[in-house]
Order: sequence, then C-alpha cells, then structure tokens
Amino acid sequence: MSETTRSIAQLQELVLALPAPERDRIARIYHLVTTTGRLVAPPEMHGWIEKYFGSVAAVEEQRIVKVTNLITLEGALFNELRASRPMEARGNPEVEAEIAKAGDPFCHPETGTPADVFGRVKGKRCITASNIAKYDGFHGLVIFDEHNPLAFSEESVADALHTALAWARKAHNADNAARYFFFMWNGLWRAGASIIHGHAQMTLSRGIHYARVEALRRAALLYGVAHGTSYFDDLVAAHRSLGLATAYGTAQVLAHLTPVKEKEILLIGKRLDHDMAGALYRTLDALVHRLGVRSFNVAVYLRPIDAVQEDWSDFPALVRIVDRGDLTNRTSDIGAMELYASSVIASDPFRVIEALTAPAS
Ligand SMILES: [Zn+2]
Repeated sequence: MSETTRSIAQLQELVLALPAPERDRIARIYHLVTTTGRLVAPPEMHGWIEKYFGSVAAVEEQRIVKVTNLITLEGALFNELRASRPMEARGNPEVEAEIAKAGDPFCHPETGTPADVFGRVKGKRCITASNIAKYDGFHGLVIFDEHNPLAFSEESVADALHTALAWARKAHNADNAARYFFFMWNGLWRAGASIIHGHAQMTLSRGIHYARVEALRRAALLYGVAHGTSYFDDLVAAHRSLGLATAYGTAQVLAHLTPVKEKEILLIGKRLDHDMAGALYRTLDALVHRLGVRSFNVAVYLRPIDAVQEDWSDFPALVRIVDRGDLTNRTSDIGAMELYASSVIASDPFRVIEALTAPAS
C-alpha cells in the first residue's frame, strides 16, 4: 500500500502487514474493530446523497474503525465516509474581522485584569493576570500582547509557556503545597474562550493532579509493571510503525490514534523545553495555515513541580492539541457520544500527519 492511499479505514490491514514485534506492540496498547454499516436509500434521495457524499454506493456501505486504547481506555470511532471529506475549512471574512477587532480589557491588562497576590510575571510578549472566577486556588492567565489569537509566532508561543512556568514557580513559593501545574489555551469561542484576545490559562493545584492526568500516570505505571517497558515509549513507537509520527528535535509529534476530537496531535518530550515549544508552534501553524483550523484547545501535562511520594519518574512532558471546528457552526462538536461513550472522528490521522510533515510552502 503506497503512502498516499493509507487511510484510517485500512488501519487493521496496515497493522497486520507490520513485522511481528511492531504488530505485537500495537496490540498491547490498541484494540481494533472494523465493521460495515449498511443502509437502503430511496431513489428520491439519490440526488441529495450524490451532492453531499459523492455517490450512493459510498453511503450504502460504510466502513467504521473502532480504536480503543486498552491502557488509558480512550476510544475513537472513525467512519470512512466522514474521514474522506476534504479537511480544509473555508475562511469567513466577517468572522475574521470580528477576531481582529481590538479594544477589550485584555488589550490593557494592567488596568483591565486583576493581579495575583504575588504580582504579575512579565514575559517578552505577554503578561500574567489572576483569573477573576477561579477553577482552583491558583488560576492565572497569560495574556498575549498581540490581540488576535491566530496571529501567534514561534516567539510568542515559547514565551507564553516560559511565562506560565515562571508563574507556577511564584505560586509554588506562595504556597508550597500547590505543585500540580496545568496549562491550557482555549483558542476562540468554539474552544471555550469567552474573550477573543489571545490568552492561555494555567493552574497550580494541591493534593493530587487533575483526574485525567492522574489517570494517565496510573495507567502508564501499570503498563510498565505488566510489560517491563515504558508506555510512553511504546505509544510513540506504535505511531511511528504506522507512519503517524514525526519529530521536532527531541519532541515527538504524533497524529493520535484515539483523538479526543478532530485532528488531535500529541507532543511528547522529556520536559517542556525549547523543542517542545517549537513543536507546538509548528503544529498550530500547520493546523491554522494548512488545514484552516480557527478554534483549538491546547493542554500541557507535566509532572509536579517538586518531589512527591507518587511515582512520576516515567511521566513525560505531554502537549495535546485539538481542532474544535468551524466558528460559524451552531452545532457543538461534541454530543452524548463524546461525553459518555467514545469520540466520533471525521479527520483521518494519516491526513493530519501529512499536513504536519509537508514541506513549507
Ligand atoms: Zn484585545
């Protein structure tokens, strides 16, 4: 099978064609089911179906691939029909003008936002603020100097991460029991941002890390005990075997096999360093400028910022990036399936990795 025809619909065949050790490693992590959905379309619907799906045959038999991560119990359902649609989104001039319009409180953060009790951290291209209605004891913002959240640069992305880490050290100094750091960036309203002006958020929590992060730590620990190898190393290797991984320096870049939602990309590194920041910038740049993404979430998982009793020795720096869909679409991208069962995915990870590795245009 050539590189150009690889698709998520053929995942099971692609795995079967691998050498046994690689196949076994994938099978340790992933459970795969391929099934076919069938329907009967009345002749009156044929015209409409051809317009939206290309042919009646395409909808009469639809291949569905269910991928389950047996270690973390994350799951994704890929439908060939949805995945074969073009990924590039169209821009909307009215929406672009709304995003570019400055004049909000974040345009003058020192008078428009509260400060933390330990003051503000000033980066080169951003400044911190204290979140007015907090998720946790320490909950801050990194407010970009640049209003337009889509006008990020390699420098501004690295500066936001660096400034958030400096904020975490200040918060930890103010309260030594606060040590579990979480960084998030909600890009525009589809992703949960209430203010357009570019900003990321960070928290520093006490007692135990956030539930999803702690669940991942525990799952990876059990994997290490059961198989004598690193879960994170095997996760990278499994994606690499399938051609779903690339690297930026020491940062591993994966087109995730169980994406939480569309086009999810994982970055895995030893720590949140220069290479990880560079990989995050390149990923966002590819999503926005190659795939037309306008609204996204970024999350950073890190081990606690000081020593604790729990075993975090194998836990990497992990960054997750996901597309949240068209800014003009009134329908939410998540429903009961995503909240309570499994993610339903329309983007093919093989197309995502192509976009990430394409030469600069
Ligand atoms: Zn602004």
